Amino acid sequence: MFRKLKTKLTVAYGGLLGLILIAVAGAVYLSVQHTAKENVRAELKATASVYERLWQINQQQLADNADIMARDFGFREAVATQDAETVASALDNLRNRLGLSRAFLVFEDGSGLEAGNSATFDTPAIVLAAVRTNNYASGLIPISGIQYQAVAAPIMAPVRVGWVIFATELDAAELHELESLSPISLKASIVAADPDGNFSIPENPVHAISARTPLEGFGELPAGVLLLDYPISAAMAPFKPMLFAIAALSLAGLLALFVCSWFISKSLTLPITRLDRATRQLASGVPVDFEVESIDEIGRLAESFLQMAHEIETRERSIVKMSLTDSETLLPNRRALQQAIDQLKVRDDGDSEFCVAIGIDRLTHISTAIGQSATNELLAKFGARLERPGVIHSIGLVGADMIGVLISASDGGAVAEQVSDLLHAASDPILVAGEKIDITLSAGICQIGLHDVPGPVDEAIVALQQARVQRRRLLIFDAEAYGDPGGTLSLMSDMVAGLSDGSVFLAYQPKYNCRQQAVRGVEALLRWNHPIRGSVTPDRFVEYAEETGHIRPLTQWVITQSVSDRERLRLAGHDLKMSVNISGRLLGDPDFLDWAIKEIGEACDRFCFEVTETAVIDDPETALANIQRLRSAGVEISIDDYGSGLSSLSYLKQIPAQELKIDKSFVLSLQNGSSDALLIKSTIDLAHSLGMSVTAEGVETEEVLRLLQVMGADVVQGYYIGRPQTRDRTLALLNTLSGSPGLEAIGRGR
Ligand code: C2E
Ligand code: CA
Ligand code: CA
Repeated sequence: MFRKLKTKLTVAYGGLLGLILIAVAGAVYLSVQHTAKENVRAELKATASVYERLWQINQQQLADNADIMARDFGFREAVATQDAETVASALDNLRNRLGLSRAFLVFEDGSGLEAGNSATFDTPAIVLAAVRTNNYASGLIPISGIQYQAVAAPIMAPVRVGWVIFATELDAAELHELESLSPISLKASIVAADPDGNFSIPENPVHAISARTPLEGFGELPAGVLLLDYPISAAMAPFKPMLFAIAALSLAGLLALFVCSWFISKSLTLPITRLDRATRQLASGVPVDFEVESIDEIGRLAESFLQMAHEIETRERSIVKMSLTDSETLLPNRRALQQAIDQLKVRDDGDSEFCVAIGIDRLTHISTAIGQSATNELLAKFGARLERPGVIHSIGLVGADMIGVLISASDGGAVAEQVSDLLHAASDPILVAGEKIDITLSAGICQIGLHDVPGPVDEAIVALQQARVQRRRLLIFDAEAYGDPGGTLSLMSDMVAGLSDGSVFLAYQPKYNCRQQAVRGVEALLRWNHPIRGSVTPDRFVEYAEETGHIRPLTQWVITQSVSDRERLRLAGHDLKMSVNISGRLLGDPDFLDWAIKEIGEACDRFCFEVTETAVIDDPETALANIQRLRSAGVEISIDDYGSGLSSLSYLKQIPAQELKIDKSFVLSLQNGSSDALLIKSTIDLAHSLGMSVTAEGVETEEVLRLLQVMGADVVQGYYIGRPQTRDRTLALLNTLSGSPGLEAIGRGR
């Protein structure tokens, strides 16, 4: 209900004590009122009994006087003789002497007269009945609307001849006298009942205390009451100052209570409020610090809290540091580099920021030689070498063999120059465990902020990989070459569909044997007419298939297809050697090779697998073992794209290949007269000395063909001999050529 502890405490304490105070004040008031009422009631009772006494005395006096009168001889005579004149005058005398209000005489016959008036009247029946029943009847009697206390006495002469009735008025004066007798200022009144015996007493005012004393009626006349009233307010009046004082004190107390509770709660909750604020600060990562003022429990709690907050901060710092450090090399990691990139500000000197991935080439090979911990040391030392304030602002280990750095430069050319210098300066051998390790470096560069996806670090890494593939020292990220990785997967599912719907198919390019002057083989090359993208080059989708794991099913399809096509051509009279390109990844997959050998079956010795030398270099042991397996099954091995890579003679020697294919880039260069001729010639000689036949691919002109023949090439392949085309077109070409072998025929056949 209350959001603040302070308010809660204030309301709880103030409210509770306030309630107690109100209850006490109420109890005091009620008990005072009760006492006052009791006092008044006692007083009223006393007054009533005084009045009762007075009533009786009065009655006695009236009775005595009536009696005296009744005994008077002369009077009795007058009554007996019904001498109205004398009776009236005698009564009048006595009335005056005794100071009575009224005096009457009732004759035995029922007629009556009043003192001082000899005229007789008929006595009211009820009065007559009363005296006839009781000679000494007494009680309340109303005469002309005024109440009287009346007493009768018989007149005996010697028999009863009538009655005297004396009455005193119960007037205001007498009641005032009664009021003044009481020590309290009560109000006295006489109320007579109506003829039905009901009292029409004015409704007792709510705040009045009253007492009634019954007064009997004269004979059958209705009775009455003496009503004594006393207002409560009057009864309470003496206590008023005291009650007022109590009320004022309670109110002041209540107010003081609230104020005090407020202050106490505030001082109690202030440290808690501070702690609460500090906790929230801590939660949102803001450093917490405050003065602990009190030494009580809350103070101690605050102190413990502060200590905890400081420990959390320290721990957090070390966690952050750990999360930004590579645990093996203690170099900043990729996250640290990314953080540095995120914190880069727009430069005002017009320079741009670049992320550069610098890789140690063939580190995995080095690592197998020197072990992992030495590799870590090597990386750490290499990282330290890269930390050059001024040139490089941040570094981070971004892969097992590469470190990313941030450099600023005016443009791509400038950064390429800087990175080239850097590679030069950083490629000195590194001393690890007492041994000098030679390193070669490559770099990929990417300008930060040019593309959102995949992000600068990834782009630099891709550029580095591109550089390695292209055997360049450094390369700037090429978004076009990178393509659209999101589209790759859909491309692959399209390709899988294409294998069954015929949009993916094989084209065959003839391989012309110079010595036999005839086409003795074909190379199977993938073609894809994508329904939307048009023709997709195999270079591209074969690479995607390798990256996405589709290469095996794709190659299996190629083998199955080429086995059946070769058979068709054989049945048509052309028993050709079928060359199939096998990706390096599959060369390391013995399952696949077993499958291939089985699939090709008896035709194994009519098949040649073209593999690139890098396939062997990456994992020589497995590759060589697998090549051996193929060789034993009769499959020939051809080293494709020779010269485009880093091939070293030593590797070449180890690969038990029958064919070496000189990369078309060299052959094409012959065409424009560049000086690769010597290189080609020496390669041909070298291959021959290793017992391999040499195929030159990319032969587009007759001159090049003749030149290669002179140089000793065994087989030529290229657009001049024939472009890759469908099986049926290939068959047509073969039919044409078989009729008239030789170079001229080729010219005609194209
Ligand atoms: P590659 O194995 O080096 O294939 C030779 C490439 O050179 C083919 O390109 C061919 O069309 C082209 N070529 C042939 N003669 C000439 C010529 O006189 N001049 C020029 N400029 N080029 C010529 P293509 O068909 O685009 O294939 C490109 C690459 O795709 C192939 O290079 C090969 O690495 C890969 N590839 C093609 N089919 C397969 C396959 O079934 N499996 C695998 N793993 N890779 C394949
Ligand atoms: Ca090939
Ligand atoms: Ca090739």
